[in-house]
Order: sequence, then structure tokens, then C-alpha cells
Amino acid sequence: MSTRESRTQNLFRIALSEIEHAFDVHSLEPGMRSILSYPKNEIIVNFPVQLDNGKLKIFKGYRIQHNNVLGPFKGGIRYHEKTSLNEMRALSAWMTYKSALHDIPFGGAKGGIRLNPQKYSLDELQRITRRFTHALGNNIGPEWDIPAPDIGTNAQVMVWMMDTYMNLTGHAEKNSVRRIVTGKSISSGGSHGRRSATGRGLVLCIQEWAMDNNIDLSECRFIVQGFGNVAFHCANMLTKQGASLVAVGDYKGYIANPKGIDPHQLLEHVKETNSIVDYSASKSISREEFFETNCEICVPAALELEIGVQEASVLKCNLIVEGANGPTYPEAAQILQKRGIEIIPDVLANSGGIIVSYYEWLQNKRSERWDLEEVLRKLERQMQQTYRQVIAYSREHDISMRTSIYIIGIQRLATAYKDRGIFP
Ligand code: NAD
Repeated sequence: MSTRESRTQNLFRIALSEIEHAFDVHSLEPGMRSILSYPKNEIIVNFPVQLDNGKLKIFKGYRIQHNNVLGPFKGGIRYHEKTSLNEMRALSAWMTYKSALHDIPFGGAKGGIRLNPQKYSLDELQRITRRFTHALGNNIGPEWDIPAPDIGTNAQVMVWMMDTYMNLTGHAEKNSVRRIVTGKSISSGGSHGRRSATGRGLVLCIQEWAMDNNIDLSECRFIVQGFGNVAFHCANMLTKQGASLVAVGDYKGYIANPKGIDPHQLLEHVKETNSIVDYSASKSISREEFFETNCEICVPAALELEIGVQEASVLKCNLIVEGANGPTYPEAAQILQKRGIEIIPDVLANSGGIIVSYYEWLQNKRSERWDLEEVLRKLERQMQQTYRQVIAYSREHDISMRTSIYIIGIQRLATAYKDRGIFP
């Protein structure tokens, strides 16, 4: 088993340990703990697809539905060669708390296929996606479970899923099921502002933190791990505020330039070469050097469990903003706290995506189209409101932002269960 694979096997345990701490602080009763500690449904599908060379290959797909007491299951679809059941369980639980934190009427889910998308042609990816959607069948639905993009998937994958689902639906209902997925292209019913929403949400949190701490963002240096959807939009918006991107990492390597890296030019390089490495206006650095870079803000926006004890001991920033889900080990978080490095946790920091996904779903449901300004205004208001609520709770009770986030979510979930009771 590779290091990453063995780490993600632990991810659900780590997610649970964070949440259980909040259960303890909240004194949640044991029955409710058990309900929230297990995913409701775990769906595994094995399905055949014909490859371009004519051979058949069996793929393994997952959909883990953690909780739907507040609304339909909701969460991304990941295409990654190390995707595992335990990783999906953790990611689905975090989705439940993201929606609950913002009081969005969605539950939590996560899914994916164990594959490296770079090893397949576009035609193969289309056949894999369509066959996966078919295999999931009625386990997903516009009022039941609504997928979205995640690592290795994008608007195109969502549109293939939508089209497959629409074609499996009777003629009369076809258009009403468009909201089966979010994160679609605008032409297929996606929302303005969805593609950049997660990165924008990170920046809205950073702005709140800067305001709160009297920090001028135009004097800040930042580093980002990952240069995909989340990282690019975050880096782009932060540099527009005058902050300087001084180091970047991706699956292939790490680069730095203390004078600043232009996110747009770097994106052009990534489009041509598929990676940030060898970008001309930078020098190559090691992963260790990346985490030791002098900066004010660090944005992990790649994979889970990237910041361990080692990284936490050498990081030189004042703030970590968790773009990725679960990038920080609990032991590392303790070290960071002792070192006075603040963390804006994933469940809040990267929730811009779920917020605008909700707006997309609502627009589809009402056959409406909101303009970009309207989406951005609503997103900004929602992120600011929740950020301030979390900070206020954390100060009032003298607990971390992470524990405050879970407690706010737990309160909403527990109240819904209390009101409804347990069937029968
Ligand atoms: P993406 O596929 O667009 O980008 C992922 C980036 O991570 C790529 O640049 C890739 O090269 C890099 N990467 C992969 N393996 C790496 C490694 N071992 N070391 C360093 N870098 C590595 O994915 P994304 O949509 O930008 O998602 C990034 C993270 O944000 C994920 O953890 C995802 O779960 C989380 N997230 C995404 C969204 C969203 O709306 N897309 C919402 C919430 C959370």
C-alpha cells in the first residue's frame, strides 16, 4: 500500500476524532453521536467500460451518503487512482457539516471512481462517466443525491452525468432533472460564479481574518499547494488584492519566486505542460523548502493530510486557510496552535463551492438565471455572516474555530432529529 493510500485509510478516523471532540464539548447524547458517526448509505459499484483499444476494463465507483436529515445528499465526485472507501466516508461527513454550518438545506455525500484520469482519453472518460452514472441509477436524484465536481472532475464530467441521467428519465421530466448535478457549464444550466466559488470563498475568509487582525493584504506573501480549480482562483483573487504568490506546488513538484508569481501566466504554462514545474519565471524547490518559505498565508489546496508534525514545525506563516478537505493532521493542528499559527478550517474555508452549488440547484429548480453580480453578492454575504458567527462562538466559548464549526453544525442536525424523532 502506498504512503498516500495508507494515510487516506486513516482519514475517516481522523475526521471522526475532530467531530467527536465537538460531540464531547457539546455533550451530545450517545444515540445522536452514533447516528452522526456512520454514513447512512455506502454504495459500491463495479462496472465495465470498453477502452479505445477495444478491451474491457472493470472500474470501481463509490457513492457514500453520510446524512440527509437537513436535505438531499450533496457532494463531489472524485476521479483519483488512490480513492478509497475510508476517504469517501470522511469527505461525505465533512459535507454534512458544511451544509449544516451554513444552514443550507442539503445533507452530505461524496463519491468517485478509482482511476487516474490522465491515463484515459476524453472519449474513454466520457464512457466511464456515463456508465458510472448508469450504475448509480436511482441512488442519485435531483431531490435525493446531487453530485458536483471535485479532484479530477470538472464541468464537462458533470454535463456527461446530467445528460446520462436525463436520457434515463422519461421525456416529460427530462428538463426538470437538470439539477441532478451542480458545477455544470453555464450553457448546460450551470451557475455564474460556480467555477471560482471555492477559491473566492477562501479569499472572503482571508479578508475577514485580515480585517479582524488589522492586516494589509497588499503586504502579504502567500504559498499555495495545488494549482487546480480551487488554488488558481484563490491565488488569482489574492494577487488582485496586492498579495504576492511566492511559492506553488503540484503533483509533480514545487516552484518559488520571492518577487511573486503571476497566476495567469502560470496557468498558461500548466495548460501547455500539465504541471507547474519548469515554469520559466521561477526556480524549482523541494517540498521541504516549500513549507519553509517565508510568507504570511499558506493555502493547502491539493489533497488531504499534507500538513503533518514535520510541516507544522517549520511553517513560517501566520495563517493556514484549508482549501483542501482535511489537509492538517490533528497532531499538527496542536503544534500550529502552540506556535500561534491560526487555521481557517476546511469546513468553513472551502464552503464557497457548496454555497454556489445550492444557488445553481435553486436556479434550475425555479427555471431562473441569476447574473454574476447577484451570485457574488449572495455568496459574499453568506460567507461573511458564517465566518463572523464562527469567530464569535469560538471567542465566547474559548474553543478553536474547528470545534465551533462542528458544534454549530451539530446543533442544527441534532435539533432536526429531536423535532422529527426516529422512525418508527
Ligand atoms: P483539481 O483537480 O482542480 O486540482 C488539484 C491540484 O492538486 C492539482 O494542481 C494537482 O496537481 C495537485 N496535487 C495532486 N496531488 C498532489 C500532491 N501529492 N502534492 C501536491 N499537489 C498535488 O482539484 P480542486 O477542485 O482544485 O480541489 C482541490 C482540493 O479542494 C481538494 O482537496 C478538494 O476536495 C477541495 N475542494 C474542492 C472544491 C471544488 O469546488 N472544486 C470544493 C471544496 C473542496
